[in-house]
Amino acid sequence: MELEPNEAQAAVQAQARRFAQEVLAPRAAALDVVGGFPHDNLRQAAEAGLLGINVPVALGGRGAGVVAYSLAVTETARACASTTVALCVSNMVAEVVTHFGNEDQRTAYVPRLCRGELVVGAFALSEPGAGSDPGGMRTKATRTDRGWVIDGSKLWITSGTDAGLFVVWARTSDAPGTRGISTFLVPGDTPGLSRGKPEHKLGLCGSTTTAIDFVGCEVGPEALLSAEGRGFPVAMMALDGGRVGIASQALGIGLSAVDTAARLCAADETRASQQWVQWALCDSATELEAARLLTLRAAWRKEQGRPFSREASIAKVFASERAFAACDRAAAVLGAAGQDEALPVERALRDVRVTMIYEGTSEVQRIVIGREIVRRFTGV
Ligand SMILES: Cc1cc2nc3c(=O)[nH]c(=O)nc-3n(C[C@H](O)[C@H](O)[C@H](O)COP(=O)(O)OP(=O)(O)OC[C@H]3O[C@@H](n4cnc5c(N)ncnc54)[C@H](O)[C@@H]3O)c2cc1C
Repeated sequence: MELEPNEAQAAVQAQARRFAQEVLAPRAAALDVVGGFPHDNLRQAAEAGLLGINVPVALGGRGAGVVAYSLAVTETARACASTTVALCVSNMVAEVVTHFGNEDQRTAYVPRLCRGELVVGAFALSEPGAGSDPGGMRTKATRTDRGWVIDGSKLWITSGTDAGLFVVWARTSDAPGTRGISTFLVPGDTPGLSRGKPEHKLGLCGSTTTAIDFVGCEVGPEALLSAEGRGFPVAMMALDGGRVGIASQALGIGLSAVDTAARLCAADETRASQQWVQWALCDSATELEAARLLTLRAAWRKEQGRPFSREASIAKVFASERAFAACDRAAAVLGAAGQDEALPVERALRDVRVTMIYEGTSEVQRIVIGREIVRRFTGV
């Protein structure tokens, strides 16, 4: 059993750390204040090979694997959680097309996603009334002589303002619940697709999240990803992988808050010598170390082609909740300084909250994990 990254993985981690420190960190505070889509960060991320980390080299990706992806995401999130969410979703979209696409779809989109030519990819699943439960989805795709016409609305779509490719889920039959849902690849400039204004949100203010409306949005038959009616398993498999990314992101945010708190406490001898401060830092460091191991285990299982759904949910619920606690403790040990916009702890505390919400809330992860535990005894 090897608990350290191998040489190739460590090289990706080191490169992502350099990119995070040199490109992302100097801009992160201003990006958070000004808001908007981090174009230049993502252009440079594409140049650095960070938009297709676990995508085969033959399709323009890095071919570095899931462990390397997780390590890289943690590094970028330590510097800028906002850029990291766009980066994670785009990597996820590139992987979804690689895994579920046919040869034409792969070659049409994946290399361009990796090179940043499509800016980034977006994942359009959530709707008003269909967040935790995709079975409530109302967006429809109607078959025509020329392909499909999509009508409906998606909500809270990361990078919705700028993405060049949307993976979209829509109902293609009257089957109830999660049956009869299909997946489509919709280029961002397709007539009938319109982008809403960026939402004002608590954290990740340097990323955009928008509604996407589809009104008579016509796509050809080649837009269908995977088989008709198989959209729900596509979404669930994509989210399993996505959860490894979000656990890695949460870990990075938590580590950045602990680093800042420890650095500032170290500069204040009285504070650093207080036992409660040391215990707070100790609890955060211990919990984040456990989160790191859980996250890397889920990443490793995915990389090995083993089942990893349960492990990804365990990693996500633990890493996001412990990272939130670490940010909260960092703010506590710093007193008023923890609320200061000039220090990254305040931003970390706002940014980390959503890691317990998107790609399946903590409650949803508990349902996934609990169901799996019970299944071992019932076999159902
Ligand atoms: C910044 C941001 C970015 C996002 N990006 C994307 C994106 O790119 N693509 C995308 O498709 N979506 C995206 N989302 C949407 C996100 O995935 C959903 O918000 C999330 O799945 C929760 O859905 P909801 O908001 O509808 O909450 P609801 O599903 O209404 O849940 C509300 C509360 O009820 C709880 N709950 C719901 N069902 C149960 C249950 N059965 N048992 C116990 N508790 C339950 C939830 O845990 C939650 O606490 C994003 C959201 C945010 C905030």
